[in-house]
Amino acid sequence: MKDKLIECPHCNFIHEDSLDYIETGDMEGQFPMDCGKCGEVFQVEFTTTITFKTKA
Ligand SMILES: [Zn+2]
Repeated sequence: MKDKLIECPHCNFIHEDSLDYIETGDMEGQFPMDCGKCGEVFQVEFTTTITFKTKA
């Protein structure tokens, strides 16, 4: 579950609102981000997995 959140590689601060940083429609990509705690810049890579569920 930890990889569902953005963790700062500098101070290990967890950004709980990680999903807010991803533009809807992007399946994967990367973007630079400023840590909300220590202020250091780091690269975030993300991928999206689609799952289907059907019901009769
Ligand atoms: Zn940090």
